[in-house]
Amino acid sequence: MPHRCHQNPNSIWVRARIWALVLTAVVAGILVGHSQDVPSAAPYKNTKLSVEQRIHDLLSRMTLEEKASMLSGAGWMESAAIPRLGIPPIKMADGPMGIRSWRGSSAITNASPAQRFSSTAFPAGIAVAATWDPAIARSVGQAIGEEMKAIGRNMILGPTVNIQRVPLWGRNFEGYGEDPYLAARMGVAYIKGVQSEGVIATVKHFAANNQEFERHRMDEAIDERALQEIYFPAFKAAVQEAGVWSVMSAYQKVNGEYCAENSFLLKDVLQKGWDFNGFVVSDWGSTYSTVGTVNAGMDLEMPGGEPARSWLTTAGAKKNGNGGDWLSQEKILPELAAGRISQATLDDNVGRILRIMFVSGIFDRPETAPGEIDTPAQRAVARHAAAEGIVLLKNAGNLLPLEPSKIKSLAVIGPGAAIARTGGGGSSLVHSSHGVTPLDGIKERAGSAVQINYALGVSMAGEDSAKDTAEAREQLRKEAVAIAAKADAAIVIVGDSTAVESEGFDRKTLDLPAGQDELIQEIAKANRNTVVIFNAGAPVNVSHWLNEVPSVLDAWFGGQEGGHAIADVLFGDFNPSGKLPFSFINDFKESPAYGNYPGEDLHVKYAEGIYVGYRYFDKHDIAPQYPFGYGLSYTNFGYSDLRIKPGKVSSGQTFDVSLKLRNQGNRAGAEVVQLYIHDGHSSVDRPVKELKGFRRIELAPGKSATVNFTLDKSAMAFYNTQKKDWITEPGKFDVLVGSSSRDIRLKGSFELPQ
Ligand code: BGC
Repeated sequence: MPHRCHQNPNSIWVRARIWALVLTAVVAGILVGHSQDVPSAAPYKNTKLSVEQRIHDLLSRMTLEEKASMLSGAGWMESAAIPRLGIPPIKMADGPMGIRSWRGSSAITNASPAQRFSSTAFPAGIAVAATWDPAIARSVGQAIGEEMKAIGRNMILGPTVNIQRVPLWGRNFEGYGEDPYLAARMGVAYIKGVQSEGVIATVKHFAANNQEFERHRMDEAIDERALQEIYFPAFKAAVQEAGVWSVMSAYQKVNGEYCAENSFLLKDVLQKGWDFNGFVVSDWGSTYSTVGTVNAGMDLEMPGGEPARSWLTTAGAKKNGNGGDWLSQEKILPELAAGRISQATLDDNVGRILRIMFVSGIFDRPETAPGEIDTPAQRAVARHAAAEGIVLLKNAGNLLPLEPSKIKSLAVIGPGAAIARTGGGGSSLVHSSHGVTPLDGIKERAGSAVQINYALGVSMAGEDSAKDTAEAREQLRKEAVAIAAKADAAIVIVGDSTAVESEGFDRKTLDLPAGQDELIQEIAKANRNTVVIFNAGAPVNVSHWLNEVPSVLDAWFGGQEGGHAIADVLFGDFNPSGKLPFSFINDFKESPAYGNYPGEDLHVKYAEGIYVGYRYFDKHDIAPQYPFGYGLSYTNFGYSDLRIKPGKVSSGQTFDVSLKLRNQGNRAGAEVVQLYIHDGHSSVDRPVKELKGFRRIELAPGKSATVNFTLDKSAMAFYNTQKKDWITEPGKFDVLVGSSSRDIRLKGSFELPQ
């Protein structure tokens, strides 16, 4: 007798039937989708039609499920593709100093060494900012765009334009410093360079991502004027002047709401205020809701899919407070059905992503474009940018440039000398195929006639515990002092490693890592021709030894060609022209953020308001160690003949400022002429001066040039919180032109009549 089995719901038979039903349903669903045959002449495929027509047509052919699937990524670095309609994935890569080591479809970007591929490591953002040369930022952006295209990726996660509020911020090296105008000029140029290659630039992190400490949970209280005048302008310029295609929202909260669901930031400011028509991508693991996030105008959650889900279960993501997996199709569809997300909203969000696919050309072009990476031309861009960014901080007795004919021996010393520390730590770090160390760069340039000796001097803190003991340090110092004492000059390269300055944590102090100050002090005693070079992205305390050394250079994290750039400047092949993109202080207590960083109970108050950086030092009449905009040259420049036309500027009219600049020395060089405006009659408190223009001018010895600026009312305006708009008030404005924010050479004024 056949055994009649009891129909247990878990029996294999029942499960098989359920699976069959599910499969039938799925296949039927797919067939319904596929049955809407897409003619090859469908309007959205027609490149001759307008982008808006194409979006409209494509949206009309998409199922709700397909639309919903586009709101979250398909993996770590890719958006969801819809092959049925030919919608490609957006393939992303970090950003911003080159292409971060990346390989494989949706692989986690921090690939294992075996999987690494190499691309050009360009100088850090702060080094690019120190050039004060938008043409450099543009050339870096364009070179990165070329490399992206060549490897078949189409969205670079950069530039970082967050303002340096706190000198301890771990990511200061990525950004463009403390001034919104400078950051805007650099960001706009970088974005234009990237996008000229048809690659999507992503300006990040919107908004006010100014510290790493508790970056996933922190709630920042920032007044509206500070947002508008300090933290927004670089983003606004990215949208309105560069036409940036993507904006990345920040991790933390601004005024009580996570940036990824902050409708003030994303809807009121970005979309309505600035007419942004690209898409917003979340920072990786920064979403905390479905309805709020979608309705706030956050278009694409990253990462997505299985890689995101498994990552969110890791101890690291949990400990940090990452959020994610809120915009998956499974979570969106019920909210649509319940009416908490409207179809119009869904269409708007998806339409934004499609718009950029059409506008950038990635919808229509083949997966990879011909091209190469790490070419001689791209390396030349990296080298030139690194050299232009180097800032000469001190040069007593004109020790520099070194004269190879006079120098017979050099001691090259320090934890940054024989290793190419190209960038800071975190998602921006590029694994280049090679990195020119300062030692190699100096050797190559000095040639065989100069005897070069190297000593470590001190091990980089935390890199080799055996060398971190008191005895080991003493021994290393002795070796370094011995070679320094015998050399014509000593070059000491100090600074930070990727474990000291990095995304993910802030520095604890402005002091150089352990043992470096003592090393400099000892070398300075042994050799009066000591040159200190910083390999770091933020200010460091120089007070322990500055008076003992004649020359100091800030070479930042100079990318893979950093060692060449240092040699170019040391030997005078390149006359330094870099200027500080932030006020250089020795002690965190001097910072405007002191007392309001890192915050308490996950709240941080931006109590200094608009008085960030030099705006604060000017207001309180404090002299920082080196002021914003400061940087020396091997030559010197004379300023004269300031002219402002017209003297009475009517509202809506532009006005011209001109002056004469003369290279008074006997070496060719470049000067960054800086123009600041002072509004002495305002109804509200305003900074003593604000940067409103700059020009980098190259001049042969003895030559002069007329430097011209054309300014408009934005140079005079402040944000009026009652009117919720930028306004100008009639009266007298001063024009201050100089070589740094504290070295004003020419003054004039003009009237804005009633
Ligand atoms: C960073 C972003 C980066 C992203 C993807 C985040 O942790 O804040 O700047 O683009 O990771 O790697």
